[in-house]
Amino acid sequence: MTLTERDKKYIWHPLKQHQTHPESLGIVKAKGVMLTDEHGNEYIDAISSWYTCMFGHCNDYIINKVHAQMQQLDQVMFSDFTHPAAVELSEKLIAILPKNQSKIFFNDNGSTAVESAIKMALQYYFNTGEKRTAFIAFENGFHGDTFGAMSASGLSVYNGPFEDFLIDVQRIPTPNGKNHNEILRQLEEIVIHNNVAAFIYEPIVQGAAGMKIHDINGVDEILQFCKNHEIITIADEVMTGFGKTGKNFASEYMETKPDIICLSKALTGGMVPMAITSCTQKIYDAFLSNDIAKGYFHCHTYSANPIGCAAAIASIELLQSEEIKTNIKRISKAHKEFSEKIASHKKVKSTRQIGVIFALDLNTNTERYGSLRDILLSSFMKEGIFLRPLGNTIYIQVPYIITMEQLDKIYNTIEKILDNLL
Ligand SMILES: *Cc1c(COP(=O)(O)O)cnc(C)c1O
Repeated sequence: MTLTERDKKYIWHPLKQHQTHPESLGIVKAKGVMLTDEHGNEYIDAISSWYTCMFGHCNDYIINKVHAQMQQLDQVMFSDFTHPAAVELSEKLIAILPKNQSKIFFNDNGSTAVESAIKMALQYYFNTGEKRTAFIAFENGFHGDTFGAMSASGLSVYNGPFEDFLIDVQRIPTPNGKNHNEILRQLEEIVIHNNVAAFIYEPIVQGAAGMKIHDINGVDEILQFCKNHEIITIADEVMTGFGKTGKNFASEYMETKPDIICLSKALTGGMVPMAITSCTQKIYDAFLSNDIAKGYFHCHTYSANPIGCAAAIASIELLQSEEIKTNIKRISKAHKEFSEKIASHKKVKSTRQIGVIFALDLNTNTERYGSLRDILLSSFMKEGIFLRPLGNTIYIQVPYIITMEQLDKIYNTIEKILDNLL
């Protein structure tokens, strides 16, 4: 029996309607940018397995660091102890995060990094004695699948059955360079009618919404508004962090820095799950008290797992290497050229690009998860490329180590499929 067949017996997959999409392809190996399936077919991983393996799959540098850590210290309770890998990772993160960040809190995944941020914001105001319980978030944002994170997310396809149980979130449109007066008017309105604790946002690029890119000045204006109204700003950099936008963090594009930052995905280069919620000294200080209940009583069993820390340390070292920096510039340039070229294709409605992120919208109408998407997905797989379109949007987010030849293959296949299929 194939893995695909054995899988069906016991496994319930995420994000899958098993009645209409019953099959999962067995992947048995990954190296660099290539995935190998159980039949020996190879695919270029053009979305870095959900923006995680940015330094390539099974990266030797990360493997070696993780291996050494495994022989030294595997797991220890972080509520009671500390360890070298956690300390070193925190030092390395603080050195590259926006200057106002001064404390590192460990989580297990992107959703819990966001969940922590939301709880920190709520407890910040609880501790300081001010009643603030509402949140502001962008339309169509995605922040994860736990309750708080899901509340902040504006993609209703995920939230339907749970809407009655979510926390209070007011939505504003994303800035497009033309709507800033309208957004500021809405913000004024929101703060009159709500006690807003925090604004949570994906800085500049909304990933799950289809790599939607925002107007930088517009985001800055919103952040400034929040500062003026003592609304805590939470940058969800789970997708955008670690070089994808051409800077280490997307928050570097704005002058106003967030109070809290959520990180995961490429944090460990895709080796193991781990996440971070960082914050300013001011947030941290609001939890200091002789009253034990004012502390932050949120913990995951594997907090600051040493193996995860070792993978993250290795990934940050790679991110800072000249080789990776050069690669990010090389891919950004290639994307830009492809973006300009493909924009005039008659089946393309619009294109956008920032750093190693490229996206195009098709000139067709279809449901977000309708059949066109499935046809596209399987056509790309047949051509040896794993691309996962989101509705009408085809996007690329390749590992930094991809060669020009592999990148050209992705571009050419997109063109070929646009020419022939649609
Ligand atoms: C993926 C993602 C999350 C959720 O992370 P998980 O590890 O899947 O829980 C949260 N925010 C953003 C912006 C993401 O892209």
